[in-house]
Parts: sequence; structure tokens; C-alpha cells
Amino acid sequence: MDSKQTKVVAVANQKGGVGKTTTTVNLSAALAEMGQRVLVIDLDPQGNASTGLGINSRAVELSVYDVLMKDVGIEDVTESSAVKNLFVVPATIDLAGAEIELVSVFSRETKLKRSLEGVIGEYDYIFIDCPPSLGLLTINALSAAQSVMVPIQCEYYALEGLSQLFRNVKLVQASLNPALNVDYVVMTMYDARTKLSEQVVDDVKNFCGDIVCKTIIPRSVRISEAPSFGQPITVFDPSSRGSISYRSLAEEVIKHG
Ligand code: ADP
Ligand code: MG
Repeated sequence: MDSKQTKVVAVANQKGGVGKTTTTVNLSAALAEMGQRVLVIDLDPQGNASTGLGINSRAVELSVYDVLMKDVGIEDVTESSAVKNLFVVPATIDLAGAEIELVSVFSRETKLKRSLEGVIGEYDYIFIDCPPSLGLLTINALSAAQSVMVPIQCEYYALEGLSQLFRNVKLVQASLNPALNVDYVVMTMYDARTKLSEQVVDDVKNFCGDIVCKTIIPRSVRISEAPSFGQPITVFDPSSRGSISYRSLAEEVIKHG
């Protein structure tokens, strides 16, 4: 296989419920649909990215936990998804223990980075779905990535916690990973019927500047239904507004280079 220029993107925000997993799953699927070879690494013990891509967590024998804690190779835990070109490193609930177990591990912040070296060049994109915290799992993702993508829900308190997230990115940049940049802020769950959504987008643009993606993901029931069928929105309802918006985001990401 040709060696590819792999872009590794950590999808991070220590707030829960802002659309990290939804964006990871659907953006990855949209990119794969466009012919990009994509790997999703599920780094959240909840395993929602894995199940959202059709992986049956009870049937998973090896997971990202084994990569981090037992030096199992990424290629040995990678599973194909129902979408062509889209692959998954699944997470299971045992990953919840890794946050603490990693504390005593040598080079604990760069376990993921080093294991990714084995598959760099095999994918166009690797997206890492982070848990809702700034603990060691997220630090591992930030150490391994070139890019951070921050989903932000169009709700009150959208900006809350952002400074802390950006500060942590700077810390990782300074100590572990000079190449790291926050390249994308993605506004999610936009409700066109409310003034609030519009206002939040303006506030975030003022705070974050031109890293805010032009594509804004609408709030849509179809997007929230897709995971229970183990499908990204682009498969579940290919012509829906949600699918169109995630394809548009995929185009922006490709153009960004
Ligand atoms: P996070 O990974 O940041 O915790 P999720 O992606 O799991 O957030 O999203 C939180 C909840 O919001 C989920 O139930 C998801 O289905 C729902 N959701 C996410 N994006 C949308 C959207 N654009 N429209 C409607 N519901 C959404
Ligand atoms: Mg999540």
C-alpha cells in the first residue's frame, strides 16, 4: 500500500454531551464515503463511537485498553466497520480503569502516540474520540495528534471550560507535542428556531476566531437516532440534513489540508 500523509485529529472537549462522539462517527463516515481511508480510535470507556459504528462491544476481545496497557499492536485490535474505508479501534468499559492504571506506567502520556507509529501512513485520517475529561486518556490523544477538533454545543455556557481546554492544549504543546494545534471548532446541535443558537455561534466566533468551521451541524432527531442502529447518519439517512452537514464538514476538513 502507498504510504499516506496521515492526519491525526483529537476530538476533544472536557464537557460531556457536546457532540464529540457524534462528530467523530459521522465526520469519519463522510470522509470514508469520499474515498478517504479513516481510522476511528474510541478513547472513551463508554464506547459510544464503537457501538455507533456497529461494533458489538460484548463481542470485542481486544480493545484500545490492550493497546495502552498491554502493548498490543493497533493493527491487532482494529476492526472494519459497515462503511467501506472506515475502521475502528474499539473501547470497552475496562478503559475506565486505564485512567488510573496509566498513572504508574513509564511514559504514560505518550503510550497512544507510540502505538500509532505502527499504522501512520496507512490512513488518510485518524480521529480520536476523547472522553469528557482532561485526564491521562485525553492527554494521550493530544500527545498523539497534530490537530484538535473541539465540538461545541449551541447552548448556554458554550464557552465555559474552553479556556481551560486551550490551556491544556498549550501545556501539551510545550512539553510533549510541539506540532499540536487547535484547527477546528465545530458548532453542533444548532437550532435555527432559537435566537440563542445564533447568539452562541457569534460568541464562539468572537472567542475562537477563524478556527470555527463554516459548517454548522443542525440539531436533528435523525442524528440522535442513528447510533441505536449502529450506523452513522450518512448510512442511516443519507439524504437527511444531518448527512448533508457532515459531508460539508468533511469537505472543509479535506480543503484545510
Ligand atoms: P459527547 O461525545 O461530547 O458526550 P455525543 O456526541 O454523545 O456527545 O452527543 C450527546 C447527545 O446528543 C447524544 O445523545 C447524541 O445523540 C445527541 N446529539 C449529538 N449531536 C446531535 C445533533 N446534531 N442533533 C441531535 N442530537 C444530537
Ligand atoms: Mg462521547
